[in-house]
Amino acid sequence: MLIADRESYRKMLKEFKKSSLSSSKTNMKNLMSGESRLIFGSGMEEGDLAERYQTEHLVCMQCTVKRATIKEIEAALERLDEGSYGICDDCGTQITEDRLRIVPFAKCCRDCQEDLELKRNRQ
Ligand SMILES: [Zn+2]
Repeated sequence: MLIADRESYRKMLKEFKKSSLSSSKTNMKNLMSGESRLIFGSGMEEGDLAERYQTEHLVCMQCTVKRATIKEIEAALERLDEGSYGICDDCGTQITEDRLRIVPFAKCCRDCQEDLELKRNRQ
């Protein structure tokens, strides 16, 4: 991979991380300030409490997903430094540029990813 390419992926990963961080922060802030409570609580009776909890649960789930993404982005940045970025973790082939543009923190090629998901779905 060319150094110029590496730098552009690094930039992309950092942007990705920044936007993931800011949106998870907003979610957390809404949760803490009870803003979601206000939105979902206005004009609702006690019976709607379950719905409120469900919403909060959903926000928490989103935060967990975001945290996992941020971890993957950080791992990808490390791979960039090591020089193993863009190489499939599983079979060692070069991950296509198309895939990296969509998922810059991809750890493996499309074939291996599909295999992984198939296995996961079977469990
Ligand atoms: Zn692979």
